[in-house]
Amino acid sequence: MNIQEILLQIEQEVHSDTSRGKAADYIPALAEIDLNKFGMAVHTIDGQEYKVGQADEFFSIQSIAKVFSLSMAMQQFDEKVWDRVGKEPSGTRFNSLVQLEFEEGIPRNPFMNAGAIVITDMITKNPEPMKKDLLSFVRNLTGNPNVSYDFEVAQSEKESGYRNVALANFLKSYNNLNNEPEEVLDVYYHQSAIQMSCADLSRAFIFLANKGFSPYCEQEVLSLRQSKRMNSLLLTSGLYDAAGDFAYRVGLPGKSGVGGGIAAVIPGQLAVSVWSPGLNESGNSKIGLKALELFTTYTGISVF
Ligand code: GLU
Repeated sequence: MNIQEILLQIEQEVHSDTSRGKAADYIPALAEIDLNKFGMAVHTIDGQEYKVGQADEFFSIQSIAKVFSLSMAMQQFDEKVWDRVGKEPSGTRFNSLVQLEFEEGIPRNPFMNAGAIVITDMITKNPEPMKKDLLSFVRNLTGNPNVSYDFEVAQSEKESGYRNVALANFLKSYNNLNNEPEEVLDVYYHQSAIQMSCADLSRAFIFLANKGFSPYCEQEVLSLRQSKRMNSLLLTSGLYDAAGDFAYRVGLPGKSGVGGGIAAVIPGQLAVSVWSPGLNESGNSKIGLKALELFTTYTGISVF
C-alpha cells in the first residue's frame, strides 16, 4: 500500500467538492478563514511521514487539545479523574448546559466543554505556570518548538465565551471546580487556541497508536491501560454528538475541533490528521470527515 498515493488521491477527490461547510463564526477570530484550505498528514509508528496540501500550515486545534490536557490529568490522577467526570457519550452539543443540572455537576465526558473545563481545573494550581506546562507538553510531543498559543484566538474566545462562563460557574456551584471560574477559563481558552499543523498533530497523537509510548519523542506518555482507555473514549465521545456517525463512516478513535481539524489513530499502525476549516451542523470538519472516510476505505484498515 502506498500511503502517499492514497493521500494524493484523497486530495484530488475533495478538491472539487464545493460543499465545504461553514467556519466556526461564534469565535470571531476563526470566522475569516479560507474554506479552501486542506491539509492531511500521516505519521506511522516506525517513523514514516506522509503529507499533502497545507499539512505544514498552522491552524487552531481547538478541542483536539482536550486530548493533551486529559493525558496530563491521567498522568497525575489516573483513575481518580473519573471521580469528577463521566465516560459516557453525551448525545448533546459540545457546549451544552442541559445535562449538567440533571447530573449534578458531573459532566458526561472529558471531551465536551464542561468535562474539559473540569479536567483543566484538575491540572491547574496556578494559571500562568499551567499554560507554560501545557505548551511544553505539546511541544515535546510534536517535536516542534514553534507550536504556540494564538493569543488573538484566545482573546476572541474570552470575549465570546458566554456559554463557557456559564458552564464554569455552574460547575463551581456543584463544587466541581477548585479554582475560580475565570482562572480555569483563562487556561481553557489558551488550550483551545493552541496552533500547530497536521504534521505536528499526527506526531503528537502517535503514542495513542503505540500503546501509550511515543516512538517519536521516545517517552511513555500514558501506560498501555491508559492509552487503551483514551482510545475508547475517543471512539465513543471524540466527535461531539456525531461520534456514532464518525464510528460508522470512518471507524477510528479520533478527536475533532471547531478549527476544522480531526486527528485519528489506527492502533498498532499510525496517526492521521486532517484540516479543512468548513464545519457541518455538528461542528466537525465536513471535508475532513470525507477525507478520513476515504482514507480508511482506500487503505482498507480500521479498528474493526
Ligand atoms: N474553544 C472552543 C469552545 O470552548 C472549543 C470548541 C471545540 O473545538 O469544540 O467553545
